Amino acid sequence: MVMKSELTERSGVCRFCKASLRHTFVDLGMSPLCESYLRPEQLNQMEPFYPLHVFVCEKCFLVQLEEFVSPDNIFTEYAYFSSYSDSWLEHCRQYTDQMRDRFHLGAGSLVVELASNDGYLLQYFVQKNIPVLGIEPAANVAKVAEEKRVPTLVKFFGKQLAEELASQGKQADLLVGNNVLAQVPDLCDFVAGMKLLLKPGGVITLEFPHLLRLMEENQFDTIYHEHFSYFSFITTQKILERFGLSVFDVEELPTHGGSLRIYGCHTDDPRPVESRVVELGKREEAAGLEKIETYASFAEQAKNAKCRLLECLISAKQARKSIVGYGAPGKGNTLLNYCGIRTDFIDYTVDRNPFKHGRFTPGTHIPICAPERIFETRPDYVLILPWNLKTEIMQQMARIREWGGKFIVPIPVATICS
Ligand SMILES: [Zn+2]
Repeated sequence: MVMKSELTERSGVCRFCKASLRHTFVDLGMSPLCESYLRPEQLNQMEPFYPLHVFVCEKCFLVQLEEFVSPDNIFTEYAYFSSYSDSWLEHCRQYTDQMRDRFHLGAGSLVVELASNDGYLLQYFVQKNIPVLGIEPAANVAKVAEEKRVPTLVKFFGKQLAEELASQGKQADLLVGNNVLAQVPDLCDFVAGMKLLLKPGGVITLEFPHLLRLMEENQFDTIYHEHFSYFSFITTQKILERFGLSVFDVEELPTHGGSLRIYGCHTDDPRPVESRVVELGKREEAAGLEKIETYASFAEQAKNAKCRLLECLISAKQARKSIVGYGAPGKGNTLLNYCGIRTDFIDYTVDRNPFKHGRFTPGTHIPICAPERIFETRPDYVLILPWNLKTEIMQQMARIREWGGKFIVPIPVATICS
């Protein structure tokens, strides 16, 4: 089957290998930036929408979005504070224990985190008396990190900053990048910077949502403008290798709907390569991630999930039931905009992050309230937008069962949980 996109569409070149992008992965239509929550006075103003059209490179299989808005606009006052999820914080605390023990980190080491956010992770190294440096472009979240005694440089990371730091004798024993690689417009400059900032014998860990899981579990809503790239294990290995870095271990994690944590080192580092590296490469190959046809079926899956969710919401509304949302994450905004779900279906949504209270979801204008609102209005259904945290949320909100309330989980396909 020949995709329409092969014949008619063309959009720039691959962020990594510079081949022309000719193959659509999925086209989610026009959408506003998913973190641009609106204040009441903005509701009657024009709102910019950008294409959420994802391509896959036929040479290196990097799945990617064109960069429509510069990171300066997206990230300098970022609403996402990592510290508002208990399970994520616990994940980070365990990580710091593991890294300290496995790589013998101590008072003479330096841990550097790229996109260190509000210090959610580095704070645990500080508690262990291991020196840290955070690099975070969003000034408002960096300020919160400083309050946690996490020294933070308010800058974008790349080759130039890495050179400056290395010339000051600052190189990392452990260089951490959690959920940052996807947000880097100039991928090559960023990875070249990591190579420079890594001390000889040092270790890089990168965590990112795994493209294989995104495809297998239909997580199309994790696509948004702020995430420029979506990585398979095989493609990530290729990218690191080109800059003199090798992957020596990999772990599969449940976070963000299924992430990878890859362990990298300088290519000339004599560390043994763990068998998990070879095994995962084989699994991705078997799943067809090195064939362009495999990527072509994803768009149909996304459309199907949209229909199923709308069917579920329409039948609830026809039965005169009330529906509210839980959470206002970036992924929720992709889902709501792609499916066209506004206050006709969802009365309001709630979020634990007070920064979002009193604001409205971008594009769909659903009011965002504090979680207690659900206990005041006692809705029939609660649509869980951050479905990756559904277990935690269903526990926190278990009391909705007192009035017969039920949860709706939208992904991989809409499911009602009572
Ligand atoms: Zn490419």
